[in-house]
Amino acid sequence: MGPAELLRALGFNVYFPENHGAMLGATRMATDLIPLANARGFSPDICSYLTSDIGSYIKGASPLQKMNLPGPPKADVLVFNTNQCRDVKDWFQFYAREWNVPCLGIHTPRAISELSDSMVEDVTRQTEALVEPLEKVAGTKLDTARLRETVGLSKQCTELWKQVLEAAANVPSPITFFDGTIQMGPAVVLRGTPDAVDYYRTLVAELKQRVSDGVPAVEGERFRIYWEGMPIWGKLSALSAQFAELKACVVASTYCNSWVFEALDPADPFRSMARAYSSIFICRSDDYKEKYIEQMAARYKVNGILYHDSKTCPNNSNCRYEMPQRLQKKLGKPFLIVNGDLNDLRLYSEEQTRTNIEAFVEQLAEA
Ligand code: SF4
Repeated sequence: MGPAELLRALGFNVYFPENHGAMLGATRMATDLIPLANARGFSPDICSYLTSDIGSYIKGASPLQKMNLPGPPKADVLVFNTNQCRDVKDWFQFYAREWNVPCLGIHTPRAISELSDSMVEDVTRQTEALVEPLEKVAGTKLDTARLRETVGLSKQCTELWKQVLEAAANVPSPITFFDGTIQMGPAVVLRGTPDAVDYYRTLVAELKQRVSDGVPAVEGERFRIYWEGMPIWGKLSALSAQFAELKACVVASTYCNSWVFEALDPADPFRSMARAYSSIFICRSDDYKEKYIEQMAARYKVNGILYHDSKTCPNNSNCRYEMPQRLQKKLGKPFLIVNGDLNDLRLYSEEQTRTNIEAFVEQLAEA
């Protein structure tokens, strides 16, 4: 989640290892691949995107091969941003060592309450400092007009993606969080291109039609739930089916909304990229996050909040420091904590989660 626009403007084909991590989770290949990275020295307790992706590299097995693609490409340069976590840097440095290519990045402040001008200035300077080494790898000079155009396309993508997510504020909602985890693909890997803009124009039109026709995502929607934390990629389908059976729609999430970068501005590309990528939920303080979730709960009219405590991603698990209890006190809405993981299904109990979700929805019915 960094300034991909800069790379695109320099003519790079941008590849996102985190997206491959999610694919390894969703295809349930991750669980068999993680031990290979563990054997290499990456702890089972760290990011399971990292361990499954490195395991996939070691084994030479990827879901991309099922699409008749050779697998993840070898990079000419790796570019990270620590706004999410340190794991991305360690992850990309592994490939830089393997391929003997440069690894460059931005170190963003974390636990930010108010994003100050000095923080934005710091990240702007760090982003500008990437230009020269990237130009060397690309063998071309940065064209500012092209950068502005790319940031403009990203901005359009963001605005459309936001409209997709906001369609779920309608009752009944025309889309669920589980749909969102798939539909977010272009906002993650194609922002800054016209393809992402075209994709979301079509999707927004379809959702508007569904809203005006009263077509619900969950037939007979009775309850609306907010999902806080990472998806459980290998169980999207099972969880989506269970909530649908219970007539509960997971209408919104912090996760899908994290790819809304409102601060992007083609007129001021570097500063606005710095502001946008330092504003994301994951690098904010708990005070900020609490207010954010409170606003989201009101906007999406949710009955309860589900927190996913994702074992290998403490960076995106927000239920470990009493936040659910504080928010319950404030909002008077029940919460459920699901113990699991984004990719490592050995850390997830399907039986226990099913039972806990059933009990949670019963609780919503009584509230
Ligand atoms: S935020 Fe979590 S899931 Fe994403 S790369 Fe970092 S540790 Fe992994």
